[in-house]
Amino acid sequence: MSQIDDLPALREVIRKHGLSPKKSLGQNFLHDLNLTARIARAAGPLEDTTVVEVGPGPGGLTRALLSLGAKRVIAVERDDRAIAALHEIAERYPGRLDVIPGDALSFDPRPHIGDSPACVVANLPYNIATALLVNWLTLEPWPPWYSQLILMFQREVAERIVAPHGSKTYGRLSVLTGWRTQAKILFDIAPTAFVPQPKITSSLVRLIPRAQPLPCDSKTLQRVTEAAFGQRRKMLRQSLKTLGVDPQPLLATAGIEPTARAEDIPIEGFVALTRAFSEIR
Ligand code: SAM
Repeated sequence: MSQIDDLPALREVIRKHGLSPKKSLGQNFLHDLNLTARIARAAGPLEDTTVVEVGPGPGGLTRALLSLGAKRVIAVERDDRAIAALHEIAERYPGRLDVIPGDALSFDPRPHIGDSPACVVANLPYNIATALLVNWLTLEPWPPWYSQLILMFQREVAERIVAPHGSKTYGRLSVLTGWRTQAKILFDIAPTAFVPQPKITSSLVRLIPRAQPLPCDSKTLQRVTEAAFGQRRKMLRQSLKTLGVDPQPLLATAGIEPTARAEDIPIEGFVALTRAFSEIR
């Protein structure tokens, strides 16, 4: 492994701070600083950008972001054992790393960012990865405070995120993501890159917010897709009954065949259904 900085190797950091991986915190650490540098580079030039990192752990990705020139990194970590290790990195990069102990699910970075451009780069804890993504996708006002999200997911989740309509993996997450962002899988990361090794392959995904998504209410859109995909093999005239209204006029207003199934409906169709549902409620 080549050096990206003069700090100790990650294996040494993990040993010194007793960071034995905890499954409950979704801890699968990346030890290879070349790989963390590849992930950081996927975000492009960061000299003017504040990066929000969720779950820095022992700091492999954090160090890559800083050594590649990120203006500032705001790192939110729930594991108290990692905080001292992260402070050692902060000392090496004075004024550029803010370590925030706490839960990323309830963390609002806006007061910390100020006016500078911001993005999120993270090797997410898999147990809360989807919940974090949904939080970032449903922010108001829109466009959000970030210019892009560069996130690692399990490959299977990444495929659901980017799935187009008509595919077997197209579902609630694909609709919400495609409505507000353009998402792309950048590359895969083998289980062997992590300690401990997960059973599955991971994928790095880039999501760029759309400047003007089709207008609709995100909560209502989620209700509609939950109903539609909750019984994805059924026709919409049946599955949408769980909304508590007659689906036929909704489908007629949205211009959708009552016999269609959820996976055949493009995002614009779900937006039209959501607007029709909002109007009759
Ligand atoms: N960034 C490190 C790396 O790439 O090696 C660690 C990634 S590990 C997959 C996920 C990290 O998220 C762990 O450090 C874990 O402690 C942290 N984490 C888990 N739940 C969290 C939460 N709710 N808020 C903030 N961090 C969390």
